[in-house]
Amino acid sequence: MLREKLIKYISQHKTPFYYYDIALLQQTLNSLKAESSRYHYHVHYAFKANTNPRIIQEIERSGLGADCVSGNEVKCAVENGFDVSKIVFAGVGKSDDEINYALDKNIFCFNCESMQELDVINDLAIKQNKVASIALRINPNVDAHTHKYITTGLEENKFGINPYEFETVIGKLKTLPNLKLIGLHFHIGSQITDLGPFKKLCLKVNEINQFFFNRGYDLPVINVGGGIGINYQEPDKENILDFATYFKVFHDFMELRKNQELHFELGRAIVGQCGNLISRVLYIKNGINTNFAILDAGMTELIRPALYQAYHKIENISSSSTSTIKYDVVGPICESSDCFGKAVELPETKRGDIIAIRSAGAYGEVMASRYNLRDDVRSYFSE
Ligand SMILES: *Cc1c(COP(=O)(O)O)cnc(C)c1O
Repeated sequence: MLREKLIKYISQHKTPFYYYDIALLQQTLNSLKAESSRYHYHVHYAFKANTNPRIIQEIERSGLGADCVSGNEVKCAVENGFDVSKIVFAGVGKSDDEINYALDKNIFCFNCESMQELDVINDLAIKQNKVASIALRINPNVDAHTHKYITTGLEENKFGINPYEFETVIGKLKTLPNLKLIGLHFHIGSQITDLGPFKKLCLKVNEINQFFFNRGYDLPVINVGGGIGINYQEPDKENILDFATYFKVFHDFMELRKNQELHFELGRAIVGQCGNLISRVLYIKNGINTNFAILDAGMTELIRPALYQAYHKIENISSSSTSTIKYDVVGPICESSDCFGKAVELPETKRGDIIAIRSAGAYGEVMASRYNLRDDVRSYFSE
């Protein structure tokens, strides 16, 4: 299917480029909306996964909120028409300027990650004569069973406030009049493909929710973050995530009081499958044990394999050869980690063949760099 859709682009456009399937993004958003509204859940799109203007526009139209991790992401959300009453702002290192901007725009909630941050937001809110709505980002010590670089909910990770600090936080909040605690926030990691960790998270959240209730905090917002993984192995088999099963875990295991709403922050599950990195083969280099297919795309366009050993399905979409050969598929960048896949079985591949690196819609284009003075990466869209 990708092959047919791409035919007209390949001859007309210089590679490498990102190719986004907008129809698939729309179908994904429709499914997400249908399954989340069944339980009246609130979903914020995690901006850091992809901020391509065309993608953002599409997501804004669907009515999702925004989950931002920098002042510029908050700005991007505001300027693209996202409802400020649906913007949340997380991050361990929010600068004064970033906090001031978000306060000025009256965003829905700051997800606060440390005790000191509480003081700083309170001070800045006093200067703007505002009361900032905040949620405590809590480190629940739940193992997400994902790559260690994208695990965030363990005691050893830098994110969030630890349960042993709760008493101190509660004491501190009483002295900070310009903060209003409205909720609890969690995010345990990314590309989590097993629902077990989410069930564990629910049980942990129930405990913590009850703890705060017992201490007199009847908090309206529970935010469980994002992190549900996509199928990188077989993107065509499962191009839209099974949102029904995902949300049902929370419906089954989360104990919410009547006045409490449940919030999610999804990135990868929304945009991951709609993007492909398209490149041409520049050279084939045959070694004694290893054959290399050298592409015109590299880690500068898609760093995930180099950064956290991520797997992407690699397809030769122009070859009609029936014999297959194993290639190390690499980029042109002067780093040995600039490798998209080792011993990848492809149809016999030649210079000029078109290679699609699949499921590259999340954490792909946003992480592109100009290392080696590479050109900015381009993007095209199929409607
Ligand atoms: C990155 C991030 C998300 C989104 O994670 P996905 O794995 O893309 O769903 C949600 N919340 C926070 C706080 C994040 O940092």
